[in-house]
Amino acid sequence: MNTQQHRTRIAPSPTGYLHLGHAYSVWLTQALAKAMGLEVILRIENIDHTRCKPEYVAAIPEDLATLGFTSTDPIWHQADRFEVYQDALHQLSDFLYPCTCTRADLQDYTSDVYPGLCRHKTMADITPDSPPYALRLNMAKAIQHLKEKGQWPLTFHDAKKGEVTAEPEMHGDVVLARKEFKTSYHLSVVVDDAAQNITHIIRGADLYDMTHIHRLLQALLDLPTPQYIHHGLIAEDGNEKLSKSKASMPLHTLIQNGLDLAPLKAVFDDVQKIQNEPAEAFLKALPTEIAAPLYFKEFA
Ligand SMILES: [Zn+2]
Repeated sequence: MNTQQHRTRIAPSPTGYLHLGHAYSVWLTQALAKAMGLEVILRIENIDHTRCKPEYVAAIPEDLATLGFTSTDPIWHQADRFEVYQDALHQLSDFLYPCTCTRADLQDYTSDVYPGLCRHKTMADITPDSPPYALRLNMAKAIQHLKEKGQWPLTFHDAKKGEVTAEPEMHGDVVLARKEFKTSYHLSVVVDDAAQNITHIIRGADLYDMTHIHRLLQALLDLPTPQYIHHGLIAEDGNEKLSKSKASMPLHTLIQNGLDLAPLKAVFDDVQKIQNEPAEAFLKALPTEIAAPLYFKEFA
């Protein structure tokens, strides 16, 4: 792998077929990558066997080719990399504890931040008879460790917000290995971005808050920090994301029904930086019956 090359990634999760929201993100990524001289690789984020399906995985390269993107590198599948994530969990073991809480255990707590019911537990408390457990990061302990090493506070660079001080503590003791499968989005994405020498991360602004956790994990695992570019999302009335409208239908179905991609893709031709993301132009270029319930959610 050429470590000199600056690169970004397209990293879909195959929990459904690609739709127009994905098309927006892929075209924007390609336009920014071209302007910035970034190589673009494809990674399929299929750690969640309860939601990802083989037919969705198989459709991704085909749908991306329809959008004008073909990966020149071998395509990584996260489902093949559980051993690597296991190694990363092992490196973090001083900061992890097993959590056996169920939804019912947590239903009386209104905050999204985990109340720490299992924080006193260690792996010695886990026996073959124990219920399924997740692994949570002891946030206070992890931050204290970085303070003692003189590595705190942490910052990252966001293309819209500039230099940002990371505040992972707002998320509390996050889950790094789920009960159903022994990793998490946070852990896998951080490990793989480093393993694939990703220098620039272009992704939806719905993931912006997660960057604070990712920056912390990079520090704990001694991994480099990429630059971040967060784009707005195409949303629909009544939903934060595309879920019920025509725009959320599989891309290949819309194309079969006569949608012409060319005028949509053309909207991205002159995009050089994220400050010029062409969301309104994209919505205008869509047929009215598809665009009607849609709006652009920029995020603050
Ligand atoms: Zn717990």
